[in-house]
Amino acid sequence: MEIAFSGQRAVVTGAGKGIGRATALALAQGGAEVIAVTRTQADLDSLILECPSIKPVCVDLSDWEATDAALKDVGPVDLLVNNAGFGMLQPFLEVTSDHFDKCFSINVKAALHVAQIVAQGMKARGTGGSIVNVSSQASQRALKDHAVYCASKGALDMLTKVMALELAPYQIRVNSINPTVVMTKMGRMGWSDPVKSKEMISHIPLGKFAEVDDVVNSILFLLSDKSAMTNGVILPVDDAVAMPTEPTIQCSDKAAMSSQCSPAEGDHFNSLLKMTGSSVQICI
Ligand code: NDP
Repeated sequence: MEIAFSGQRAVVTGAGKGIGRATALALAQGGAEVIAVTRTQADLDSLILECPSIKPVCVDLSDWEATDAALKDVGPVDLLVNNAGFGMLQPFLEVTSDHFDKCFSINVKAALHVAQIVAQGMKARGTGGSIVNVSSQASQRALKDHAVYCASKGALDMLTKVMALELAPYQIRVNSINPTVVMTKMGRMGWSDPVKSKEMISHIPLGKFAEVDDVVNSILFLLSDKSAMTNGVILPVDDAVAMPTEPTIQCSDKAAMSSQCSPAEGDHFNSLLKMTGSSVQICI
């Protein structure tokens, strides 16, 4: 399957490093005119050296007015990747106001604001478009010391769904991708400790973290016409790692089972829990 973006203009935020940088380069390689947005000029300088057709925009996206000023002349945009993100580990009881505001201002508010700017233009031109929000497995799964990050990505998922609902009449699709750990700068900050990474990998049946390209390929698919009927989707790039908390009742032998529940009760439980999307596992 070939995905091409010739004749399309794309904005990628957080394009200085990691997933955003690789996405910007892949889109440019696919024929798109790419506008790379990030806040460190040195990253943009090296990106342009690598791919001279990319247009740089240097701005701190947590500043609402500065974002307006930086993107007001961005011109028509067909594709947006809201990728810029912030993460910091802090135990729940030590979370500070500053940490909360910083995380939500980038992971949620900036994504909303950049999408507003871009979608206004798409609506005015009547050409439609595709927006991908880069969320995380952390939106669906509780991770220790990730209270604020998890909450911000959960908020981003809901934002994706409402944007998809409200922008669909203008043929603007909005989806999110939700990767597991990727060893970028951000990934290394959270998962370099071998004890933690081993524990996380143990929940991933494929036994490995995602690579940057795994995430980029999913972004390209959701941006492209190959996903023309996909809208409001939260797409895991995580080998089902986000689902290990399913409630499971296990009876390891017949005696234990009869003391806890009869097979008929087990069936009854199963049907009840299936209605809520869960299951009961009874092993004899
Ligand atoms: P990186 O830290 O490697 O890159 C993040 C990029 O976003 C950097 O270029 C950074 O610039 C930029 N950025 C951050 N804050 C701002 C801001 N206020 N204004 C403009 N640019 C900003 O992270 P990743 O590539 O790993 O992460 C990309 C996205 O993927 C994030 O949304 C993250 O939450 C998500 N994600 C990452 C996972 C992982 O394990 N790596 C897993 C799941 C999701 P600068 O360096 O100058 O701050």
